[in-house]
Amino acid sequence: MTTLTLWLDGTLHEADTARVSVFDHGLTVGDGVFETIKAVDGRPFALTRHLRRLARSAHGLGLPEPDEDEVRHACEAVLKANPMALGRLRITYTGGFSPLGSDRGTEGPTLVVAVVEARRRPDTTAVVTVPWPRNERGALTGLKTTSYGENVVALARAREHGADEALFGNTVGALCEGTGSNVFVVLDGELYTPPLASGCLAGITRALVLEWVGAKEADLPLDVLERAEEVFLTSTTRDAQAIRRVDDRALPGAPGPVTAKAMRIFTERAAADIDP
Ligand code: PLP
Repeated sequence: MTTLTLWLDGTLHEADTARVSVFDHGLTVGDGVFETIKAVDGRPFALTRHLRRLARSAHGLGLPEPDEDEVRHACEAVLKANPMALGRLRITYTGGFSPLGSDRGTEGPTLVVAVVEARRRPDTTAVVTVPWPRNERGALTGLKTTSYGENVVALARAREHGADEALFGNTVGALCEGTGSNVFVVLDGELYTPPLASGCLAGITRALVLEWVGAKEADLPLDVLERAEEVFLTSTTRDAQAIRRVDDRALPGAPGPVTAKAMRIFTERAAADIDP
């Protein structure tokens, strides 16, 4: 891999030599928030929405509000320093240096902005459901924190079963979301997605599909996946991606007509507006 240049605490660094303290609270206890942003020809997609969510997540975790001008400038500088056709820009914002065992440090947060090359995802994928519920009423519900252990374990389960995403129900058995994606289902030709109250992240791709394509937000039992005509995922790295298998159930013909329409509308609208 060619050497990447990233932003760390106020300036550009070569990725090979950039250093964060081993006592960074983000590393030791997962006290951090993040965003993953698609970059097309050096331009970040939906940056304003991502920065708003970063600020909301930071607020929810009790971190000082990130300096929006600095984060925008860092994204611009990193994208300029690493030209690529399709990239995944990653903003990580943590509690900062804190000697082990103590509360959050007093020296201020750590901000890292980096970009790596991305591949376009295939149009269809396979998913599994996992038996561990998402807590729809937890302190971190709806925040995009770096405490992703639960998602790491679920994704490993998916990989063991030849799938590349895992879907969670919540504590009352309703469909919630994937480890890094939101979920839409088609029932009797109508498009549905779980509401934010299900405990899912307020995905930016989800919001754009709701606005551009239209879908009903509804509580859906997890077993809806056994009878849905079509199912698709949304995320920054997947856009809208059709599901061709859920656990042992094949969904032949994926993407079905409703999903294909959502994929097409999303692609067209996203190409027309870089910061919708
Ligand atoms: N749900 C979770 C848990 C996520 O981590 C993500 C994105 O990483 C999403 C949903 C999808 O959100 P977005 O469309 O903003 O990428």
